[in-house]
Parts: sequence; C-alpha cells; structure tokens
Amino acid sequence: MDTNAATGDERVSLVEETSKALQAALEFEAVLEISLKAIVPRLADLAVLVVPAAHGDVRIEVAHARPSMVGKLRSEVAASLDAIRQACEISVREGRQARWIPAVTDTALRFVTRRDPRLESLIRSFGLRSLMVVSLRASGRTLGGLAVGRAEDGTPFNSNDFAVAQVLARRIALAIESATLEEELQRELDAPAGVTEAIHKWIRVFDLAFWGAAVVDGTDRRIETVNPAFARLHGYGDPASLAGRPFTELLPQDRAGELENWSKEPGGRVYETVHRRRDGDTVPVLVSVTPMEDRDDGSYVVTVQDLSDLKRTEERLHRAQRMEAVGRLAGGVAHEVNNMMTIILGFSDLLARSLDIGSSSQKEVEEIRKAAVRAAKITTQLLAFSRQQVLQPVDLELNLIVQEMVPVLRLMLPANVKVETALSPLETVVRADRSQLEQVLINLAFNARDAMASGGTIRLVTVARRLDEAEGRRLIGIPIPVGRYGLVSVVDTGHGMDETTLAQVFEPFFTTKAVGAGTGLGLSTVYGIMKQSGGYVWAESIPGKGTTFTICLPEVIGRATQRKRQSGEHRDERPGGGTVLILEDEDGVRELAARILAERGYAVMQARNGSEALAGIRDTVPHLDLLLTDVIVPDMGTGELEYQVHALKPDLPILYMSGYPKDDILYRGLIRRDQAFLQKPFTTEDLVNEVGAMIQRA
Ligand code: ADP
Ligand code: MG
Repeated sequence: MDTNAATGDERVSLVEETSKALQAALEFEAVLEISLKAIVPRLADLAVLVVPAAHGDVRIEVAHARPSMVGKLRSEVAASLDAIRQACEISVREGRQARWIPAVTDTALRFVTRRDPRLESLIRSFGLRSLMVVSLRASGRTLGGLAVGRAEDGTPFNSNDFAVAQVLARRIALAIESATLEEELQRELDAPAGVTEAIHKWIRVFDLAFWGAAVVDGTDRRIETVNPAFARLHGYGDPASLAGRPFTELLPQDRAGELENWSKEPGGRVYETVHRRRDGDTVPVLVSVTPMEDRDDGSYVVTVQDLSDLKRTEERLHRAQRMEAVGRLAGGVAHEVNNMMTIILGFSDLLARSLDIGSSSQKEVEEIRKAAVRAAKITTQLLAFSRQQVLQPVDLELNLIVQEMVPVLRLMLPANVKVETALSPLETVVRADRSQLEQVLINLAFNARDAMASGGTIRLVTVARRLDEAEGRRLIGIPIPVGRYGLVSVVDTGHGMDETTLAQVFEPFFTTKAVGAGTGLGLSTVYGIMKQSGGYVWAESIPGKGTTFTICLPEVIGRATQRKRQSGEHRDERPGGGTVLILEDEDGVRELAARILAERGYAVMQARNGSEALAGIRDTVPHLDLLLTDVIVPDMGTGELEYQVHALKPDLPILYMSGYPKDDILYRGLIRRDQAFLQKPFTTEDLVNEVGAMIQRA
C-alpha cells in the first residue's frame, strides 16, 4: 500500500495539526522542523524548503522518506540553487504561485524547468512520479519556495493534495515571517548603537507592512495607534479614525470576551478568530497579542493577518472531500445493486423469451424487466458520479458534437425554449466518451429548460483556451493543471440560483424540484463524467437573470478526430458451438450465464471456485473451448488461476468478467490490457457475442 495516499480525513488533520504546531512555534528553526516533519512522509516522499536566512542568504532544508537520501538531496539542490531561483522568479513574475505536475512526463518537465537541463536532471535523479511546487508568500511578498514530490511507486498527487500543499505553504510562510520579524527585532535592539536607527526603521515597517498592527492600551483595551494595513483590513480608510476606540468594536458581539484572555506573560498569544469590519462584515484573522511590558497597565502590540484566502481554500478542500466520500458510498451501493440487476434483467429476459408461459405472464415479466432497467439506469448514474464507470474515450471535435446535439435538443425541448449556438472559430479536439458527453449536454439542457418554465433561450458556446492553476481556482475553486482546454458553456435565461443552492448543485440527490419532478442526480452525473474524463465542470449564476454551466476537457493536439458516429459493430448472431466452462461464485450470475449459453447451443460446465474449475479442465481437456471467469475467484489469485489453467491447457482462451470497471481492474494489476473482458451487468447479446467471437478466433 502507498503510505502517502492520504484519505480526506487524514488530509484535514494534517493541515490542522500542522497549523496548530506552527502557530505555537516562535523560532525560525522550529518552524522549519515542524514543516518538514508534517510533509514527509504523510503528504510526500520528499520535500525541499528554500527560505531566506540572515544577510540575504538562503537556507535549504530537505526531507526524504529514505534518510539515506537526505545528503544527496541537499547537495544537489544546493548545486542547482541558481537555476531554482531563476525558475521561481519567472513563475512569480508571471503570477503563478503554485505548480502541480500530476505526472512528471518529458513535456511537463520541459515546461516547469523551462528547458533548464540542470533542473531537469535534478528532478530526474530523484525518480519522481509527481511534483508540486508552491511559493511561500506572506504579506504580499514571496519569501521562498516549497517543493514536494512523490516517488515512482507512489500514487500521483491529486487536486486535494495540491490544495493541502497550498494551505500548508501559506501557514509555513506566515510562521516564517513572524519568526523572522521576531528575531530581527531582537537583533536590532541588542545592538546599542543602532537603537535610533532601528526605531526609525521600525516605524517605516509599521507603516508599510501588509499585516495589520496596533498598539492597544493595557488597562481599558482602547486602541492607541494602528498602521494603515490594520485600518484597511477592518474597512477604515484613515488609521487615525481608529485611535481611542475600544478594541471590542472590532469584534463580533459574541466574541468580546476574547480580550480577557490577553495575558501578561511574555511571549504573548496567537489565535485565530473573526473580526468585524466597519460595514458589519466579518473577516477571519490570525491575531497575535504581545504585551510590551509585563505590567498590568502596559500596552499590547497586536498584529492581525487576513486569513480570508486561506479559509476559502480550506472550505473548498472540505467540500471536495465531502464529494469524494459521498462518491465512494454511492459507488459501493451501485456496485452491489448492479450485480442484482444483472440477475433480474437476465432472468426476466429468459423468462420473456421462453415459450411455455402465457401472454398475460409475458406482460408481467415485461413489467419486471422495465423496473429493472429503470433501476439499472439509476445505478449507472451513481456509478458515473462515483467515477466507477467504464468509459470509451475517443477523440472528438467539440464543435461537431455541439452542432449535432442542436437538432436533438430542439426535438426534446418545448417550443418556447430557443436553442442557439456560438461556436469557437478554432477546431478543438478533446477526448471523451461520446455518449457520455452527449448525456452531459442533455442533462444541462434539461435543467436549463426546468429553470425557464415560461420559455427562454439556451445558448451553447464553445471556446478553446488556456487554463492554469490560478484560473482554475478563480473559476472552480480548485487548481487545475495548466494547459489548453476545450470548453462548452450551456447558458440559460432562467430563474438562476442563490449562493446556497449553487454550492450544493453537484451533490447527489440534491434537488429543489418537487417530489417526482427531480432526482437530484443530473448534475452529479455530469460532475462524475467530467471528473472521470479528466475534465471539470462549474456553474455561475445570477438569481433572476440566468445560469451558465461550463464543462471543460483537456485539448488533444495532433490526433485524427472521429468525425462521424461510428456505426455500431454488428456481429452476426450465429448459434454457438463449443464447450464453455463458467467459473463464478455468485450462483445467480453463473446460472444465468449458463442458461443463456446453453440456449445458444453451447455445452456448458460450471465451477464455483478455482479448484473446481481446474478439476473440470483436467477431466475434459480435449473438448473445452473457453473459460469464462470472474476476475476475483474465491480460492485463487487471477495470476495463479491463469498459470494453472494454461499448465493444463496452454491455448485455452479466457474471458474475464467483473462488476468492477476494467480500468479499475487494470489499475490493480488483476488482468492485462490485452486480455478479454466482459463488463457486468451484461446483456444476453453482450455475452453471446463475446463468447462467440472468442471461440471463433481460437
Ligand atoms: P434535478 O434536476 O433532478 O433537480 P440536478 O442534479 O440536475 O437534479 O440539479 C440539481 C439542482 O440544481 C436543481 O434542482 C436546481 O435547483 C439546480 N439547477 C440545476 N441547473 C439549473 C439551472 N440551469 N438553473 C437554475 N437552477 C439549476
Ligand atoms: Mg436535472
């Protein structure tokens, strides 16, 4: 198992624990140590921190999951320091504060290193699979950088990991800044000749700082003086207008008691809270309170940092994690139900076709079948949401897809809903499962229709453009890998949504429609399909004015497109001939497959586990044509089964079947890409075609 494939809860506790530890750390050294310990090995296999040291020097701190690598890492980073600094400066100038490279490919490497061979070889020599680089920023300045990587055998960093890295980087930067200021102040004051100069310098710092600072009276807790940043943060233009006011005016009413905890202990206190702005809004802040003297009537120095950005990122992280958890749950349920549906569908199929039941029973069986089909549809939607569905991605020209959808939509939508398009002049090719993409557009169009009860317009807009992490954060709230994307927006003129609705639309079963009118699965399906296709979806809305849903997919460059719908492959339905051994522990599924194949003229043998199957093969070696087997059998691993089977009968074709998606099974190494696979639930035709084709080929 990977040690650092953190679950949602672990990520949250990693952030929370580290933040607490960092807030308590007053010294620079402690900050560095806490930061690295938090990251390796919980988030990454290696980490590099580059931070400012005294006299304009830089400090390099590294950590590696394998302690023997620490020395090598440190010296190689030190040797490439100039190159690192250059790359960082360029990135910062371009406004890119963070980079996420899920897969360290040649192209990605060239891109991040800007073809600097020193950096390329540095990254290569540590065999990284995945990399994230985040600048350490506080008070609007870049202090340094943090790079973290995962080794080749780990899981790639995902967008949640990236969000965690960014939150940690912010926290680390704030802690470094406080620790540095603290130490600098101490140094200045220790040098006797420098006192006057130091005072002047600190007055300047006070005025120009990006963090808010105030001096507060120790007895009545009234504000003596504040710097411009403090005034701005609280919504006041002129710092002087705050002088003399009680500090409690800056607190929401229920937090006035907070001031009682300001202590006279040297070292002071650091805590997170919310402050009230002049306009009544609240703002999350990190406050540090330090007594100037240890007398009761002495003043306090209070610094206040705005945490709004950080809180927004954290909030999104939580939301993404909730979606992930719901997805896992939905996927599990759907998978179970799917197995049952295979049985119900299959048997009602057989029942309906058997000649010995009367026509009235036929109708009843048909009802069972219809109900099962409806249930199967819902599980498919849930599977799509939880990203456990098998997609067949092909290269598609986005404009063509949209153009072909227009007549379909016009047919499906009421006459008072107009459908218009605004297509990008650029040909944009994306990779997706065609019918799923159409499903996405239909779901979005139906929602738009529902939002325009008295009619309106749906506009389908395609755009090809470059997106990067920052754009991603602005649009969706999560960073997305930099690159070119094809976008389709579905714009309606309906009633729109308020903030609360907007925040929940993608959750399964969230609906504002009447019972029976909405399932709340439309958008969660869209979300799941986009996510599984390597794309994104987001919504913007103005209540009363309309809504825009936009989907985006990475652009595919330099590949032939599939311009027309591929004509469905029809295999002839010849009656079967041959002997099939079915290995499946679920009785219903096994018997169903046996009945279907027997009906088509195959001789069928059944086995419930690996040993039974091997015994069957031993007894019937010359006559067996195919082994149809579940991927996961009770008493044997897939590899072992295959080995043993082929030891007995080297050329026996094996057809694997599973209720888990093929991608998942490939990913777990259970079967190889070139092996034949049948997805459950399967229809009678799927099974017969696949079995027939394999026996014919053999
Ligand atoms: P359903 O359509 O079954 O309610 P969806 O997942 O498709 O489920 O949508 C969830 C909710 O999102 C809807 O109930 C509605 O409140 C809101 N919504 C979705 N699309 C729009 C839209 N275009 N305009 C306004 N509200 C929308
Ligand atoms: Mg819907």
